[in-house]
Amino acid sequence: MTEQKPADEMLYEHDPKGFLGELFAPVAGYGVTITSFFRPTVTEQYPFEGPYVMPRFHGRHQLNRYADGLEKCIGCELCAWACPADAILVEAANNTPEAQYAPGERYGRVYQVNYLRCIFCGLCMEACPTRALTMSTDFELADYKRADLIFEKPQILAPLEEGMLAAPHPMVEGLTDGDYYRGEVTGPTQAQVDWVREHRPEDPTLQAAAKAVVDKTQEAAK
Ligand code: SF4
Ligand code: SF4
Repeated sequence: MTEQKPADEMLYEHDPKGFLGELFAPVAGYGVTITSFFRPTVTEQYPFEGPYVMPRFHGRHQLNRYADGLEKCIGCELCAWACPADAILVEAANNTPEAQYAPGERYGRVYQVNYLRCIFCGLCMEACPTRALTMSTDFELADYKRADLIFEKPQILAPLEEGMLAAPHPMVEGLTDGDYYRGEVTGPTQAQVDWVREHRPEDPTLQAAAKAVVDKTQEAAK
């Protein structure tokens, strides 16, 4: 039976390499270099080519919209209260029949995120009751002036997708804000298009929204 050595002695014991190991030991480090010659290159060509960013990366914030173009943010300020870095400022205002920006009573009139303070923890997203606030994969948040790193609502608001109708406009007739939250709005309606046509005939989203309404009607008729 071999005698077991004490643990502290084994800790400092020389690792025997054998004859070949001893022979090639002085150049063993080159093995890593030589095998790396035959591996695919991993050099990122940024900024000429965008890097792969994981889908759940926490980048610039985004205030989302419903499918008819109304904003999801109701100006409740829960995101601002949840923020450990005090990076968010929200000021709400009342929706009116002439200017309805979000379903329900109120919308976020002012929305600022201070990227000098933000630590990208995502707690603001967790706090948002309407899922208005998400974080995009945009990480290019550098600038020359401190003031330029305080983003205003237009910089954060999600762009209108094809077929959405720019707010303000009335909610979908017969639906409540709760119906909006439950995902029952699938796009603008004819009444919303007519309202915008009457109040803002030059609105650039009008044509595509009107076409989306016609397409949806034809689809339903099939
Ligand atoms: S990600 Fe974190 S630090 Fe940044 S605004 Fe949201 S809660 Fe505040
Ligand atoms: S983003 Fe969400 S939590 Fe923040 S004010 Fe708007 S609705 Fe409230």
